[in-house]
Formats: sequence, structure tokens, C-alpha cells
Amino acid sequence: MKPFVDQNKCIGCGACAALCPDVFEMGSDGKSHVKNAAGCAKCDCKRAADSCPVGAITLK
Ligand code: SF4
Repeated sequence: MKPFVDQNKCIGCGACAALCPDVFEMGSDGKSHVKNAAGCAKCDCKRAADSCPVGAITLK
């Protein structure tokens, strides 16, 4: 599974980066970006996706 962040939906709460810091990072634009999609194998990206308050994270 690879995570994707919808930049139009992200409100920059930081929850995903807190749960999966190897996968998501907060950018200078204040939004979450996927820095290492393969990192999903080592964390619970589904939990991160479920924790996103605006449903900006999808796993494909
Ligand atoms: S949890 Fe959702 S809204 Fe919060 S930073 Fe991550 S993608 Fe953005």
C-alpha cells in the first residue's frame, strides 16, 4: 500500500506525521507530504489515514 496526501484537503494538523514520522513530513507549506511511501511497511499507515480529520490520506 502506498499513501497519498490530497494537498487540497490537508489542513496541516500533523497527526499523520506524528503517527508515521518515517512516511509523512510537514512541509514548509504547512501541509503533509509523503517522504517515503515504502515506510508504510514499518508503521500503521491505515491508522494514520483513519486519524486524518479531513480524510486527506488515501492508501492505494
Ligand atoms: S492528518 Fe490529514 S490533515 Fe492532518 S497533516 Fe496529515 S494529511 Fe494533513
